[in-house]
Amino acid sequence: MDASIRAGKTNRRIVEAVQRRQPVFAKATPDKDGGQAGEIKLSTPVRYLKGVGPARADVFAKSGVQTVEDLLEYYPRDWDFAPEPTKISQLKPGETARVVGLVESTDYQPYHRQPIFEVAVADDTGICEIIWFHGGYLRDKLQPGQTIMAWGKVNQYKHHLQLTNPKFRIIEEEKRSDPFSFNGGVYTGSSGLSSGQIKKVIRPVLDDLGRLIGEFYDDEFRKKAELAGRTDAFRWIHLPPDENKLVKAKRRLKFDELFLMQLGLALRRHRHNSFATAVAMSCGEEIDRRIRKRFPFLLTEDQDKAIEEIAADMRRTTPMNRLLQGDVGSGKTVVALYAALLAVASKTQVAIMAPTEILANQHFISIERYLRDSSVRRILITGGLTGNKRNEILMKIKTGQIDIVVGTVALLQKDVEFHKLGLIVIDEQHKFGVHQRAQLRKEGTPHCLVMTATPIPRTLAMTVFGDLDVSIIRHSPPGRGEIVTRWVGPDDRDKAYQFIRERLRAGSQAYFVFPRITGIEDEGDIKAATDGWRILSKNVFPEFKIGLLHGRLAGEKKQQIMADFRRRKIDALVATVVVEVGVDVPNATIMVIEGADRFGLAQLHQLRGRIGRGEAKSFCFLFADKETENEIARSRLEMMERSSDGFEIAEHDLRLRGPGELFSARQHGLPDLKIADIIDDFDLLVMARRCAFEMVSADPMLISPMHKNIRQSLLTKFGESLGLADIA
Ligand code: ADP
Ligand code: MG
Repeated sequence: MDASIRAGKTNRRIVEAVQRRQPVFAKATPDKDGGQAGEIKLSTPVRYLKGVGPARADVFAKSGVQTVEDLLEYYPRDWDFAPEPTKISQLKPGETARVVGLVESTDYQPYHRQPIFEVAVADDTGICEIIWFHGGYLRDKLQPGQTIMAWGKVNQYKHHLQLTNPKFRIIEEEKRSDPFSFNGGVYTGSSGLSSGQIKKVIRPVLDDLGRLIGEFYDDEFRKKAELAGRTDAFRWIHLPPDENKLVKAKRRLKFDELFLMQLGLALRRHRHNSFATAVAMSCGEEIDRRIRKRFPFLLTEDQDKAIEEIAADMRRTTPMNRLLQGDVGSGKTVVALYAALLAVASKTQVAIMAPTEILANQHFISIERYLRDSSVRRILITGGLTGNKRNEILMKIKTGQIDIVVGTVALLQKDVEFHKLGLIVIDEQHKFGVHQRAQLRKEGTPHCLVMTATPIPRTLAMTVFGDLDVSIIRHSPPGRGEIVTRWVGPDDRDKAYQFIRERLRAGSQAYFVFPRITGIEDEGDIKAATDGWRILSKNVFPEFKIGLLHGRLAGEKKQQIMADFRRRKIDALVATVVVEVGVDVPNATIMVIEGADRFGLAQLHQLRGRIGRGEAKSFCFLFADKETENEIARSRLEMMERSSDGFEIAEHDLRLRGPGELFSARQHGLPDLKIADIIDDFDLLVMARRCAFEMVSADPMLISPMHKNIRQSLLTKFGESLGLADIA
């Protein structure tokens, strides 16, 4: 048989066939005008879709899919792509190839040495022979006129090429008109709803996309930002013609998701800024000079920058809403005090609040240090203050005879009334309380400065706290001792104790932090502070005075122990994480964290921040089994040994745990993102943020007809989580 002759004959035939029927690789015609098509809306519940009954609708609901819109956003978790078929003229012996073509003829030869079933398949470039040994069973399956796809090894047989025993699939009529039929999403199914079934439900909806999905942006912007059309993006994400289009679809949908989120934040911020109820503080050079005179040191560059930002805010009647970030000891209190003195200079009052009494006390002490001999009237309110004395002070606050009030957040809830509250400073340390900020609104809307020692990765700062302004103190004041961090396994514990003993003898102080207060085992639980304290004070360091501090002690007792430690009446302090929000004892240069694998990265870093506050070199020992199988714990401890940069650690933590875990982000209003990832898609996030804020400044209520689609999507998606009811 001469291959070239056959090819010529078949080529003619296939050309005819192709003309008669639908071309093998034609473009699908999108307009299938079904009768019911006009009725589907984005808000239509999925149970009204073909192939979805009440039972299946329930399964969909469990995956968060209620409406057609949800369904379209039920993005595949993966995608299948059929490789491009090889043109028959391009086949090469020895390769594995995929051929798609028309079955020209079939022939069964049962009397060969091995019975063979032979098929001639043609595409528009040539013809190829396919044989199956013992292929008699194929007689009923394969017939001339069918289009098949076959993939397998190409062999040279005599003068022509053969596909031998390939796998094959008959391409149905309907699929043949759909060039993408082998490509498609793979969905996360569940019992009662497979990926294939989900695909079947979504497929017909895609024919309606042009009507369902409205474009968000004008052509010019889309071109500039290199964004695919929104309708195309939805089609391609579910049914990608090729991988390149899939990439474009993902990019567009991620951008939209981030854009909507940022738009919500921009709107929220705009609304906040349209309050003009705060007192505009005067911040002249004279005031600046007077305030700076209070500090016995030059402010660092970072402190100066933060102060500049804060002063710019406080000069306006728009209430400041700023987050001041910086590691423990980086000098935030000084910055906050600067802001407070600005407010006092403008004849307003200041409330400074801390999460605990220990901390409130601490703030008061340092404020006292800076304000000695000053005429600023300040007071510390604690739970211990009662009766007449308390009433007297409250009256003074109410009549404006006190300038700065320091206390816990209880200041806000209780019966404290201010004469003219100009600034609120909240030191949240590590515990964020967005709700607390919300409560402040009761007091009118003074300027508000929130301090936190939790380094918030940039990504989160732009999302969870995206409507706040942020000032960062990255570098601590000079003269801080270096901190050496070591992960210590059980074998080296004694060596570490010996090292600590020498340090204590030389006059240093130490913290020993434990993950629990009391043991779960009867006795000798080394992970428990009470047991640890007994062992350390009796067996390990009997020659030193060792205190025990934990959350179950009464407030007064705690204060007492801390004071003793500060005054060096105690050499070492055994504690639970209460020291995390503890004190500034520059002489404490040793931190031992027992059961370090049980702590999160952020917490380890915060605990370590207790030391390295003086000029001397400090040492942090992380006690944990070195053979730990827990990869995350291992990664954390290694990170601690490697880095002391809080922001670097926070980014690492974010990667380890994902944004959902950190600060319980969702609880703080981070919307549930379906396709974008704030870490991986950071560049898109930055772009989306800029565009969103620009849009809001141009059209704050999104009332322009151009923004109708965006506004609609925003409300359905984030209206509730971002509290945007008022733009509805
Ligand atoms: P934070 O509130 O961030 O924990 P603080 O404001 O309490 O930090 O500052 C920690 C310590 O550093 C304090 O003892 C403070 O006096 C000192 N300090 C702050 N700013 C400077 C500076 N610019 N130069 C030298 N020491 C500083
Ligand atoms: Mg402080």
